[in-house]
Amino acid sequence: MTPTFLGLPGGLAYAPKGVGNLHADQPFPTAAKSALANTQLRRNLGVATSTIRAKRAAVVAELPDWEQLRDAGAAIKAQAMQRLPELLEQLERNVVARGGVVHWARDAAEANQIVIDIVRAAGSSEVVKVKSMATQEIGLNEALEAVGISATETDLAELIVQLGHDKPSHILVPAIHRNRSEIRDIFAREMADAPEGLSDEPRVLAMTARAHLRRKFLSTKVAVSGGNFAIAETGTLGVVESEGNGRMCLTLPNTLITVLGIEKVLPSWRDLEVFLQLLPRSSTGERMNPYTSMWTGVTPGDGPQEFHLVLLDNGRTAVLADEVGRAALHCIRCSACLNVCPVYERTGGNAYGSVYPGPIGAILSPQLTGIGGHSDPNASLPFASSLCGACYDVCPVKIDIPSILVHLRARAVEAARHDLMPSGQALAMKSASWFMRSPTRFSRAERLLRLGRVLAWRRGRITALPWPGSSWTMSRDLPAPPRETFRERWERERGGGADR
Ligand code: SF4
Repeated sequence: MTPTFLGLPGGLAYAPKGVGNLHADQPFPTAAKSALANTQLRRNLGVATSTIRAKRAAVVAELPDWEQLRDAGAAIKAQAMQRLPELLEQLERNVVARGGVVHWARDAAEANQIVIDIVRAAGSSEVVKVKSMATQEIGLNEALEAVGISATETDLAELIVQLGHDKPSHILVPAIHRNRSEIRDIFAREMADAPEGLSDEPRVLAMTARAHLRRKFLSTKVAVSGGNFAIAETGTLGVVESEGNGRMCLTLPNTLITVLGIEKVLPSWRDLEVFLQLLPRSSTGERMNPYTSMWTGVTPGDGPQEFHLVLLDNGRTAVLADEVGRAALHCIRCSACLNVCPVYERTGGNAYGSVYPGPIGAILSPQLTGIGGHSDPNASLPFASSLCGACYDVCPVKIDIPSILVHLRARAVEAARHDLMPSGQALAMKSASWFMRSPTRFSRAERLLRLGRVLAWRRGRITALPWPGSSWTMSRDLPAPPRETFRERWERERGGGADR
C-alpha cells in the first residue's frame, strides 16, 4: 500500500509528533550540571571513549581509500534520500513478494500499537529484542509493559541498562557509564537466576548474562529487531552486531518484527559494500562485524515463519523538508562522533535527555520533535557543542554536524522570538540594542559600568553577579571595567569627537 504520509518531495505531509523517548525533560545545561558532578561517570566515560577512539584511528589508518569510501557513503545516502518515496515502495513490494508483511507508522504511538497487535495475534505475552535505536526512540518497551507484554533486551549492555532501570548513555555502548562492580550489583539484585556470590570478573558476568538469555531465546515466540540497512532492490533487511544475540533473535522465534526508520533504505546490494566497510571501523574500531545477518521475507521451514516490517516516520519527513538539516538522516548510528566530542566525553549521554545523545543527538532529536521557544529543553541541544568540528572529521558519511548545529541555533533563536516570556538572554540583547542605538545612551552606560570596579575590588575581576548576570558569572569571571572608557581616552589624547 502506498504510504499516504510520504507525498515527497514538493508535497510533504508532515508526520504528527509522536510519543517516545526523543524529547528532553530539562535543558541540557541543567542536566549536564549533575552529570559533571559525577566523577565516577566521567572516569568511566574518559576510559571508554579514549579506548574506542584509539581503536578506530588504527583501523581507519589501514585503508588508503578511507576518504573515497566516506565520499561514496555520503553520495549514496544523499541519493537515497532524494529517491526515498520510490525506494520505500520498491522495498515494500519486494518484502511482500517474499512473504513478509509491511506496516507504515506515522509516529511512535502508531508503531507501538502495530507491534502490540502482532504480539497479541501471535498469542504471546513476551518478546526478545535485538538492540535497536528505533524501538528506543518510540518507547516500545514501556508501551509493551503498559499492556502486560514483557520485553527482554538481549544485547549485554542493553540488558544491563534494562535491569538497572536506567537509560542508555551511548548509541553503541549503552552502559558505558557503568563499571563492572556496578554491573555485578545490578545482576545480583535483578536477575533471578544469577548465581550466589557473583564476582565482578568480566568473564563471569558475561557467562551469567549468557545463561540467562539462552533460556529466553529458547522459550520466546516473538522477536523484535531494528535494522541497520534495508535493500530496496531485493527487500532484504540487515542487522550488524557483535555478540550473536541478534542472530539468535532473528532465527529462533517464530515471529519476527522489525521496526525500521524510513531513512535506512539503500537502493542496492552494491551500496552495502561501502557501508559494511565504513560502519564497523567507525563504531567498534573493528575491520568487520562479528555477526552480519541478512534476511529476505520468510523461508518455509527455516527461521521465523512470520515477518513484519514496520516502516517508521516519527518526524523524519519533517527533517527531510529542511535543506540543511536533512543530512542528519544520513546517519548510520556508528557513534564515532560521540567518542570524539569533548562535551559528550564530560557529560555522558543522559544529559541530552534523548535516546540520541552526543553530536548526532544534538542535531537529530530537535529536528525530529520540532524546536520550540526558549523554554523547550530540546531547543538547548544545538548549543551543547563547542563547534570544534571533530565530529565532522570522523563521520563516515561526512555529515557536516557543526553547520547543522549553527543552522538549528538560528532556528531556536527564531522560535524564541515568538515567546510571550522572553529569555534572560533575549532581554539582555534587547536592552543592549537600546543603549547601542544612541551614542549618548551608550556613553552614559559605559560610564555607569565603571561601578563594576567596586564589585571587582582588588581581585581585578567580578566573580558573582545577581540574576540575570549570574548566568554568566556562575561559569566565568568578568574582567573589571577599565578606569577610563575608550571615548574618554580618545578625548584626552586627541581632543573630542569620539561621541559623534
Ligand atoms: S553522525 Fe556520523 S559519526 Fe555520528 S553516529 Fe551518525 S554516522 Fe556516526
